[in-house]
Amino acid sequence: MHNARYIELKRMDVRKFFRENIKNLTPYSTARDEFQGTLGTYLDANENPYDNGYNRYPDPHQRELKRRLGEVKGVPVQQIFIGNGSDEPIDLVFRVFCEPGRHNAVSMAPTYGMYQVAAAINDVQMREVQLEPDFSLNEEKLLAATDAATRLLFLCSPNNPTGNLLPAAQVERILRAFHGMVVLDEAYIDFAGWEKSFLHRLDEFPNLIVLQTLSKAWGMAGLRLGLAFAQPVVIETMSRVKYPYNINVVTQKLVYDRLAQGLEAQVAEICSERQRVVAAMQTLPIIRKVYPTDANFVLVKVEDARGLYNRLIEEGVIVRDRSRIAGCAGCLRITIGTPKENDHLLQILSQA
Ligand SMILES: *Cc1c(COP(=O)(O)O)cnc(C)c1O
Repeated sequence: MHNARYIELKRMDVRKFFRENIKNLTPYSTARDEFQGTLGTYLDANENPYDNGYNRYPDPHQRELKRRLGEVKGVPVQQIFIGNGSDEPIDLVFRVFCEPGRHNAVSMAPTYGMYQVAAAINDVQMREVQLEPDFSLNEEKLLAATDAATRLLFLCSPNNPTGNLLPAAQVERILRAFHGMVVLDEAYIDFAGWEKSFLHRLDEFPNLIVLQTLSKAWGMAGLRLGLAFAQPVVIETMSRVKYPYNINVVTQKLVYDRLAQGLEAQVAEICSERQRVVAAMQTLPIIRKVYPTDANFVLVKVEDARGLYNRLIEEGVIVRDRSRIAGCAGCLRITIGTPKENDHLLQILSQA
């Protein structure tokens, strides 16, 4: 039974989910597509010829960087899309899979706000399914919100702003049950444990798109680099739709170099600080609830969220007030900082 469904899934041809106009799209052909060498006199792209490190257009296919990221992530380059932050692949999945005004998408709520914004920009209805009070996901409710016009289903794990990781078995059941693309946003996966990622299960699930980012654990938010991983036909199609030179020369170079430093030491430090901050908060009378977290932030429920938010600002500490979001009444989202920053936060909280 389990086996039969698995075979069915392996055979699912996701090309039928692409928008008609995208299936037949001829992408812009850059000068670097028409000639690919490394040595020569380049008189083909109307660039300024005087070398300053960035007078040439970047590689539109980010070949070197993809090779490097492929090594770091253990994924073949044909399954990697590099975007200008995660914002770019989030927007692209709507443009590739959803007919404006006709198809819809489903997400859990509360979750990351960009899915809803990208849906609205693309004139795609977003159906939000409320998480349970403990922020667990009721998958029957989620699947019941889908219909024949649902092309995308967004899962965020660990979820922002709640911090919890979705059980792998549940993600797996949703991937098998939903006839459309599942976008699994793993922006915080490095803080949950790398082995929890679905990245290495792309071959099992033809309808899976995993999003990751260099903005959080990798410490490169300012460089804007987001990643999407999926089977080659999905990556190839997203690449045809993107802006040709979406990742600039400086970002490609700096990211390439920075990847060599790894992320383990800082992630270990942030995770141990997370444990310390959570334990300390649990003893503070002002905090009514500390939600379990697998990310580099923690959601806490307090008596007077707005009052505490303002009090923290007076002391120069800025957190995120999430108290007006459905399901998050009374909640502040607090990022784990350096040990010194966390001490400062805890000191203010203990005196508030
Ligand atoms: C921060 C975050 C991202 C990252 O966005 P970038 O555009 O890559 O900086 C993606 N998804 C979620 C859920 C996030 O919280």
